[in-house]
Amino acid sequence: MNTGEKRPTQENMREMRYRPYRSMGISRAVYDFGERILAELAERFAEIDAIAEYNQLKVLEAMQKAKVSEACLQGTTGYGYNDLGRETLEQVYAAVFHTQDALVRPQITCGTHALALALMSNLRPGDELLSPVGKPYDTLEEVIGIRPSRGSLREYGISYRQVDLLADGGFDYPGIEKALNEKTRLVTIQRSKGYQTRPTLSVARIGELIAFIKARRPDVICMVDNCYGEFVETQEPTDVGADLVVGSLIKNPGGGLAPIGGYLAGTKECIENAAFRLTSPGLGREVGASLSALPSFYQGLFLAPSVTAGALKGAVFAANLYERLGFTVIPGGSESRHDIIQAVSFGDPEMVIAFCQGIQAAAPVDSHVTPYPWDMPGYDSQVIMAAGAFVSGASIELSADGPIKPPYAVYFQGGLTWQHAKFGILKTLQFLVEKGLIKGPFS
Ligand SMILES: *Cc1c(COP(=O)(O)O)cnc(C)c1O
Repeated sequence: MNTGEKRPTQENMREMRYRPYRSMGISRAVYDFGERILAELAERFAEIDAIAEYNQLKVLEAMQKAKVSEACLQGTTGYGYNDLGRETLEQVYAAVFHTQDALVRPQITCGTHALALALMSNLRPGDELLSPVGKPYDTLEEVIGIRPSRGSLREYGISYRQVDLLADGGFDYPGIEKALNEKTRLVTIQRSKGYQTRPTLSVARIGELIAFIKARRPDVICMVDNCYGEFVETQEPTDVGADLVVGSLIKNPGGGLAPIGGYLAGTKECIENAAFRLTSPGLGREVGASLSALPSFYQGLFLAPSVTAGALKGAVFAANLYERLGFTVIPGGSESRHDIIQAVSFGDPEMVIAFCQGIQAAAPVDSHVTPYPWDMPGYDSQVIMAAGAFVSGASIELSADGPIKPPYAVYFQGGLTWQHAKFGILKTLQFLVEKGLIKGPFS
């Protein structure tokens, strides 16, 4: 049938695409600026899609090999003995990360807890922990005892040594060689930059560092804090020699669906140690009811490669947009990506606040709430956080954090869909323009 209807003209299409943005408070100038940036990113986005495709099959293959069945989606209660779904999920994680074993539990409350568990279970009094990549994530300072804290590793007689990265972001190999000593038992390598402006480590660079350490001390456990890095590349740190990777399920591998949880994947020995510390000596991994968490853990992992890809596109878009406006962005707009975090250095606390308020205003939940800086436990300065998430605090969802201290950088991450990440970034720019903090082409 020919209805005689005409296809819309290009001009009409452009107008139609802009319409919902107008209705959501994005000015034409901000929208058009975003479209100009986007037009240059097709090749980057295609690369990101290719990685997601690879990782989707990797996850699917792991699920099929482990024979995930409908029965695996049933949870247990009480002690949680013979929890088929939990045990199978742990096999799936081990297969995804190519490790001997894994521990994936709702009883692991967050990323910090997962990392603390890995450290406290694999280190003994008199051992030394080494970070060859500089200062670890803020919350780990208290786990280690860099900042005195109740129950820290330091209180248990576990010492800590750190070798900073070189000014250019490279590894200080002579310094690392010197720092390795007879007490060194575990080396912790943080993949993501976290709240710092150093570069995130690629899996290949992590592999080089591990090879250097293992050549000198093959017995040392090499652990990688994998937070925010999962599924960003086709390889994971365990593919290049890491004995243990650790992360949070309310970041990448939970795919936005996991409501809680953490994982460790690694050698049999490391995972056994962690299981006996998580529950109790004698009980280990045999207990720990999965309650109703399993369907979201499985389905979230299944979605994780494409959710991570959406978040990565958002990060690349933000980097290019703010770089074009003259700000320092880490990583740079055309640099390769190794985590989903994008830092934008504003050098001005007001801009950090406006950016985060823009992210909040773009949220599906609590968009009517205005965030302000506050003294957050575990952090050494005030922090402003924007997160209007379905899962409280989940940073795989569109979110931003800004510590209120120089260089006044904002750390932006997540977005369950690319479309939402795009809108959120445009909203930050809209807020900065409306508050008169950015003029340029918009005034
Ligand atoms: C998020 C994060 C952590 C801590 O995870 P929480 O879930 O916030 O406790 C540790 N290390 C890095 C690199 C992170 O990004």
